[in-house]
Amino acid sequence: MENDFIIQNTKIEPGQKEVIRLNVGRLPSDTRIHLNINVYRSKKEGPTMLVLAGIHGDEINGVEVVRRAIADGIFENLKKGNVIAIPVLNIYGFNNFSREIPDGKDVNRSFPGSLNGSLASRVAAILTKKVLPLVDFGVDFHTGGNSNFNHPQIRYAKDHLVSKELALAFNAPYTIARRPIAKSLRKTALDINKPILVYEGGENLRFDGFSIEKGISGLKKLMKMKGMIDNAPMPEKTIHITKSRWLRARRAGLFRWSKCSGHAVIKGESLGLINDPYGQDEIPVVSKVDGHIFGHNNTPVVKLGDALFHIGLVDQDT
Ligand SMILES: [Zn+2]
Repeated sequence: MENDFIIQNTKIEPGQKEVIRLNVGRLPSDTRIHLNINVYRSKKEGPTMLVLAGIHGDEINGVEVVRRAIADGIFENLKKGNVIAIPVLNIYGFNNFSREIPDGKDVNRSFPGSLNGSLASRVAAILTKKVLPLVDFGVDFHTGGNSNFNHPQIRYAKDHLVSKELALAFNAPYTIARRPIAKSLRKTALDINKPILVYEGGENLRFDGFSIEKGISGLKKLMKMKGMIDNAPMPEKTIHITKSRWLRARRAGLFRWSKCSGHAVIKGESLGLINDPYGQDEIPVVSKVDGHIFGHNNTPVVKLGDALFHIGLVDQDT
């Protein structure tokens, strides 16, 4: 593999750095769409890491993590191995402030994709066919969805030991074991034995400095563990979560949380209130479990059954 590191007819030699602008299509206005792929190769053989963001076009904290990592030069002068960094995969969603492709399809539910398929399927296929064969492992950067805020967390494929080892090296505040979702990048990559971690931090269309900082420091820690760089922040405590529960709205109304992501909770504790808009009625939102909140809802108006808190049940043995 080391001898033929080729993306779209461009060969990148050991010790070289290259920005490949891959033509991925046109808008109806005839504007060309390019995908920017930054490739860094050490002179010394080693693993190839994929660093990817913007598979969901509105999850901007991830885009900023990869942009800042490139701008800060952390992929330059690798001690060994290679890095392929893609700051924005779903260019269409990014331009439209949207998670999906303009046709409503989710790129991360379209893998492995087809070069003759729908637009989402084509974007997925470009990654699967042109980039994934070169990759040994990677990190895919995300945020919570609409108004859902995720405390910085690294997710790995449950029961896959290599993935777990990578996730613990990344050392985010929360380390979460999840089964990969069908047709996701992570599932497709795992099926060919290429572990891809999923980082989640903050919410869509909002910068969150803490999530961005933890994303970058996690990348550095992972690269240090792989022998690619020398310096990384010291490891911190991570909370390992293998089981989780959603706490949902028992009535519709105005929702205010009093406790948010990143905090421990105990069974019976009030985490917020739901009111009617008229100053008459109020109910508490009460935790049914002991655990840690790793995601919460920032929406002020909620419907019956809306997910309000994502609570991890803490592992006893890790
Ligand atoms: Zn996402």
